[in-house]
Amino acid sequence: TPRSLSGMQPTSDSLHLGNYIGALVEWVRLQETHDAFYFVADLHALTVAPDPEVLRERTRITAAQFIAGGVDPARSTLFVQSHIAQHTELYWVLGTLTGFGEASRMTQFKDKSAKGTNTNVGLFAYPVLQAADILIYDANVVPVGEDQRQHLELSRDLAGRFNQRFGDTLVVPEPHIMKATAKIQDLQEPTAKMSKSAASDAGLVSLLDEPARIAKKIRSAVTDTEREIRFDEAAKPGISNLLSIHSALSGTPVATLEEDYAGRGYGDLKKDVAEVVVEAVTPFRTRTLELMADPAELDRILADGAERARAVAEATVRRVYDKVGLLRSS
Ligand code: ATP
Ligand code: MG
Repeated sequence: TPRSLSGMQPTSDSLHLGNYIGALVEWVRLQETHDAFYFVADLHALTVAPDPEVLRERTRITAAQFIAGGVDPARSTLFVQSHIAQHTELYWVLGTLTGFGEASRMTQFKDKSAKGTNTNVGLFAYPVLQAADILIYDANVVPVGEDQRQHLELSRDLAGRFNQRFGDTLVVPEPHIMKATAKIQDLQEPTAKMSKSAASDAGLVSLLDEPARIAKKIRSAVTDTEREIRFDEAAKPGISNLLSIHSALSGTPVATLEEDYAGRGYGDLKKDVAEVVVEAVTPFRTRTLELMADPAELDRILADGAERARAVAEATVRRVYDKVGLLRSS
């Protein structure tokens, strides 16, 4: 069975609509056909210097949301990144194969370091750790949003480079990016991606928000001064984003939506998008809160996943260490 693997950072109390539509929905679908590995990327989250207690809580609630969204811990290997020490071991080896200029070209680092004040080596090396996350599990497909395409390309390059230099060792992963849903934009700034660490709270639809709050944010979404509802990302990024969200959640093709809304106003579209979103997130929210009510059970699920993940990760690092010439301790 081919293997799928992906992760999300516990950088917020709630996942947002982009994480859900761009990634989680696809994770769940891939469980049907793939041996799936999904993890909470807590080591990555350290790059934004979170409060320790907040990070712990967010790690649990992120895992709870994976399950609430449909990840089945009995079928998929669900775990926390820091529970598997081998990620950072492989990261070091891959770092020695990554060019400084190559890492400097990563746009996520450029974007995040331009916005934040905390530009640290961890943030710079983030894509290398991400490559380790992927390559350590011999992942064949990696379901992510469009924003991660460049990082995946680096993972592929590093796997290829390693194999070329040391002989066939690592699986070269394929990106799995759903064209239509891969990029959900900020409601207030529809030319930027919706992001957990986004500047404006008003632009972010958090899955655990109260329904009334979600509806209000969607009603206040930035659109344009025309009146026509049609999909045109360049000229009408706000309306196009609303159409994408509607289509992804309702399953109605964008072209059909354009016909349905011919001659109708932006207010109608917003009202319907709010309804579709609230309908999707209400059971999600209930289930997440249920899971959070029993943290011991959640920790047990994560410990179980870690055990399964560790077995694979250990074997890969052993293979890699041998190939590069590190001496075994016994
Ligand atoms: P942060 O702002 O802390 O980086 P994030 O919102 O970018 O958070 P991540 O944890 O970095 O979320 O990414 C988790 C997954 O969600 C990745 O697969 C990423 O590609 C996807 N994703 C993130 N934002 C969007 C978006 N706006 N549209 C579609 N997919 C997205
Ligand atoms: Mg991100």
